[in-house]
Parts: sequence; structure tokens; C-alpha cells
Amino acid sequence: MAKIPFVSKRAPAYADVPDEQWSNWRWQLSHRINTIDEFEKIFPLTDEERKALSGAQLFRVDITPYFISLIDPDDPDDPIRKQVVPTAREMVPFTAMMEDSLAEDRHSPVPGLVHRYPDRALMLVTTQCATYCRYCTRSRIVGDPAATFSRAEFEMQLDYLKRTPQVRDVLLSGGDPLVLAPKILEEILSRLREIPHIEIVRIGSRVPVFLPMRITDELTDMLQKYHPLWLNIHVNHSNEISAELEQACDRLTRAGIPLGNQAVLLAGVNDNVHVQRQLVQDLVRIRVRPYYLYQCDLVEGAGHFRTPVAKGIEIIEGLRGHTSGFAVPQFIIDAPGGGGKIPLQPNYMLSMSDHKIVLRNYEGFVTTYEEPIDYDPSKAAKFKLEKRLEPGQTGVFGLLDGENMFIKPSSFDEVHDRQGMQHRLKDDKKWKPLGIGEGDKKAET
Ligand SMILES: *Cc1c(COP(=O)(O)O)cnc(C)c1O
Repeated sequence: MAKIPFVSKRAPAYADVPDEQWSNWRWQLSHRINTIDEFEKIFPLTDEERKALSGAQLFRVDITPYFISLIDPDDPDDPIRKQVVPTAREMVPFTAMMEDSLAEDRHSPVPGLVHRYPDRALMLVTTQCATYCRYCTRSRIVGDPAATFSRAEFEMQLDYLKRTPQVRDVLLSGGDPLVLAPKILEEILSRLREIPHIEIVRIGSRVPVFLPMRITDELTDMLQKYHPLWLNIHVNHSNEISAELEQACDRLTRAGIPLGNQAVLLAGVNDNVHVQRQLVQDLVRIRVRPYYLYQCDLVEGAGHFRTPVAKGIEIIEGLRGHTSGFAVPQFIIDAPGGGGKIPLQPNYMLSMSDHKIVLRNYEGFVTTYEEPIDYDPSKAAKFKLEKRLEPGQTGVFGLLDGENMFIKPSSFDEVHDRQGMQHRLKDDKKWKPLGIGEGDKKAET
């Protein structure tokens, strides 16, 4: 069976646009769709969509002619349409909805820099994108046409990175770093490269998906001067994988940039095992490795995209073992409140004893693995540890490693000090509500 080629599409409304303009990224950006009239030239809007577009504007709307052309005009449930065309359902609040659900602002030592993990930092280098995803996790800051790249903030970010030597991995995000003027992007990369402890730089970008013509040879020639550089794209459905995206990814991988994909699990878009299997298999055909599949964040405007967590577990169950191992992404919940990324997967371990572990595989085959009886932990491989972690960030591994014996909430001792509690209850003036960060600071690990 011959493999099915990825296709190229152009909505009939653009039939007369000369190829030269169509494949020019500047033309694509300056002809983005955002008004009812413009939409209606491409496909008839549903009442819910028209309502969203005529009301006081929620989150910015803008879609490149290239990307809107991938939508089936006759299908109101098209999986691409749902990602980028607003509907009135965006305005419906839900329980647990938050503006900054990942508490990124709290983790920002300087504006636009999120330092959540010990050895890596996220730099928000722009608020602009080529097209706006309706479920954007940063809709609180993204899309503002007045907010542009701030040189003063950039200098503060660089300054923080220079004096924070444990950061070895910097992620450029936003907004979309690849919509920046090429000169500014190059300046960011070269200034980061001047910092010796930054080993790798990663770019998170949906430009290859929304605006593949932006991935020119000129751009990849520039990018490859700043290796090691990694790039994660964001594709949620196979319909987004066109001949143009295939070519953009080919240019990037030929420039030596490993490509990953970060997808978001979205109701009505990709909440189906077969859709996901097709997606990951098509991604590896264009040499993009599925990296993460995210549970939808608790962000304003995204309520109608949320699925139960169980849907993600079911999808991983349907992928692991059923397709190439490197095509299976990690299913992740980015913990509300700033807990960071937490991976989830089906349970493969059924039971264990002191010498045996009982496992099941993807087929339901149940097996046992006999543990070694002569393993000597004192003979484990040695490694000279360069102390790089900040104190308090050794986490659960620190428990295994022997650094700490337990981790407890900051108010734990106060809550469990029943004798002290007696006194506090007798004396109203000393009473303080519990559980808001009081207590033994040393115990915070
Ligand atoms: C996702 C993220 C990272 C990178 O996480 P990885 O698991 O290394 O891909 C770093 N910082 C922040 C704030 C993030 O949200």
C-alpha cells in the first residue's frame, strides 16, 4: 500500500491569490481573518460563532488564510474550526476556573520569566501569535496588540539568568517566539548563548502549524547557529498536518533541530483514541516526536474543551503497546496552583512481594518479574555530584536519597501541636487561622 501523501489546501475565496503572495508569510499575517464578514466568505458561521464574534471581544481572534483553509467549510464540528473560531460557549464560566491557573505569575522573579523547576526557566518573549487558540492557557497576557517586545524586561530576564547558574535549559515561549522580527529573535538567541551555564535552548512554537511559510531557509540558517536548539510544535489533530507543515518540519530537522509535539486534549477535537493514534502516527511520519498530551487547563474560556482526566488515561491505554513506543506521548496535568507538570498513565503494576512483581501488559497478559536476590546497592555506579539543586527542590527524590525523612505542609506542626492548641483556643487573641503558610520553615522541602 502506497503511503497517503499529506495535502495542500486553499479555500475557494483565495483561488485568485498569486502563489507568490500565498507563500509569503507577511502576506498571510496581514490577511488574517477576524471579522464576521471575512469569516462568511470562507464558510457560513453558526449562531454560537456569530454571537461570539459580535459581542464585546473576549480573547483575540486572528486566523491565517493558510490555516483557515484546512477547515472543512461544510462541517460545523470540524476539529480545526473548534480550535480557532470562537463560540459563545467561551463566555460560560465553570467551577474552578482561574485566570492564571498555573500560578505562573507567582513563579516570576522578573516580568516575563517563569522559574518553576530547578534547572530550567521559561521566557515569555512576546504576546503575539500567528493565530490564536481558543483554549490558550496564557489568554490573560497573550494577544494584546499594544504589548510588544520589551527591551527593558528582556535585559532583566537575561540578568536573572546570568546570576542563576542552576538554569541549564531555557524555554522560549509567549506568545509565539517565531513571530518575532528575525533580528530580535536572533538577538535573544545570541544573548542567551553568551551565558555559559545555559546548555540548551528550546522554542515552543505553533508557527510551523499556523504559518509554515515562515520556516524559510533563511530562518533555519539563522537558528542553526545557536545549537543545541530544540523545538516543540503544537498539533492536535491530523487534519493540521499538510504538505506545507511537512516541508516546514523537514527544513527544521535538516537544520539539526529535534522536533517534539505538545498536544492538548480537547473535547470534540481529539478526545478519541483513534484520532490520537492517527495523530501520533502522522507526526512521526514528518519526524516529529509526540512529547506531551496535556489535560486542558482550568483557564477562562476553555470550559467547553475540558474532558474527564479518565479520557487521557484511556487514550494512553489505546496507544502504549498498540503503536511505536516513541509515538506515545506522556499524558500530563499541569497542576493548578503552580504544582507543575504531573504525568499520569494506566497502572501496569498489579502487585508485589519481597521477591516478585506482578505486571500486566497492554493486552491484559499478566506476568511476574522475579527480583534479584544478590543486588548490592553499595556497589551501584558512582557519580561525582556537582551540587546544583537549590535547597528545598530535591522533592520526593530527596526522600529516597536520604536527604529528608518526610515532607510536610508548612502548617503541619501547628495543626498537630494539640497542647499548644489548647492554649490558643483559651486565648482568642493568639488565635490565627491555620493552613496559610505558618509554621516550621525548616520543614518546607
Ligand atoms: C512546561 C514548563 C517547563 C518545561 O517542562 P519540561 O517538563 O522540562 O518540558 C519549564 N518551566 C515551566 C514554567 C513550564 O511550564
